[in-house]
Amino acid sequence: MKIYPIETGNFKLDGGAMFGVVPKTIWQKTNPADANNLIDMSMRCLLIEDENRLILVDTGLGNKQSDKFFGYYYLFGDFSLDASLKNLGFHRDDITDIFLTHLHFDHCGGVIERNKEGLLIPAFKNAKVWSNEKHWSWAIEPNPREKASFLKENINPIKESDQLEFIHSNYQEQIGFDVLFMDGHTEKQMLPKIEYQGKTLVFMADLLPTTGHIPLPYVMGYDTRPLLTIKEKADFLNLAADENYYLFLEHDAHNEICTVKHTEKGVRLNTTHKFSELFS
Ligand SMILES: [Zn+2]
Repeated sequence: MKIYPIETGNFKLDGGAMFGVVPKTIWQKTNPADANNLIDMSMRCLLIEDENRLILVDTGLGNKQSDKFFGYYYLFGDFSLDASLKNLGFHRDDITDIFLTHLHFDHCGGVIERNKEGLLIPAFKNAKVWSNEKHWSWAIEPNPREKASFLKENINPIKESDQLEFIHSNYQEQIGFDVLFMDGHTEKQMLPKIEYQGKTLVFMADLLPTTGHIPLPYVMGYDTRPLLTIKEKADFLNLAADENYYLFLEHDAHNEICTVKHTEKGVRLNTTHKFSELFS
């Protein structure tokens, strides 16, 4: 097995929304805000090459939205999914599986693109697209809180294509790695947990967006069940500190991977790493 980080682009989100009840005077120390109160966010995906499969974990937000829509998210930097794949000698048509942690647009938007005629079509024509039945049911009838994140132009075309597959209890056989299910951010978010080169790598998605979110009350305002996020984060981070997990950060524009440690105050940041420093 070979694993690669895939940068798909950077964007900005409101720092207050990203930190819930934590005041700006505190969160701006780890996540500095610009003049509009926005903080840097990445959309860093993971590519897993395993025998005959090439599995992409999440896709970033894609390129089919209107300029007005993108205007809200202040895209910056030179990264793109296609360029990141090309640097590794791959093309999007080589992707056999797309594993979606959840269906918020910044995770799944790249699955669907718009063709020259303006029709919404699969952007990875040879891939299966993996979700799970409970999350899918939750996303197709969104609550008002998440409605702006579950976009029809992503979800309907995935359903209409024949690419959609659901993870079942035998997901190890289906997808080839372990999956942690989390319900605080949204219903049945899925975090890949992969044994790789003697280390345990966990794709954190929206359970831990940045290293600034490690202390327990530092929970995004977007989360649907914040108290459950705190419990899930407490349980997970304790284990991560005990077992020395390497946490792959999808949304931290400045840190690709971190580890955590036990302290008197609770679990805190231990080390940060570039993927290329840890893995050959
Ligand atoms: Zn999300």
